[in-house]
Amino acid sequence: MELACRKCNLIISQGNTCPVCNVSNLTSKWSGYIAVLNVEKSDIAKRMEIKINGAYAISING
Ligand SMILES: [Zn+2]
Repeated sequence: MELACRKCNLIISQGNTCPVCNVSNLTSKWSGYIAVLNVEKSDIAKRMEIKINGAYAISING
């Protein structure tokens, strides 16, 4: 089960620290999934305040 960062929703496939927030505030209880390939052009990225490309959980449940 992959983990997602509670702060920025980034899905972490390796290790247990978020490379964006630099914290280990991760959870396995997330749902939904979006891949942001170009933060500059993605409306979803703007709405979710995503700053770097990557895979993000849409909602964090716990
Ligand atoms: Zn994060």
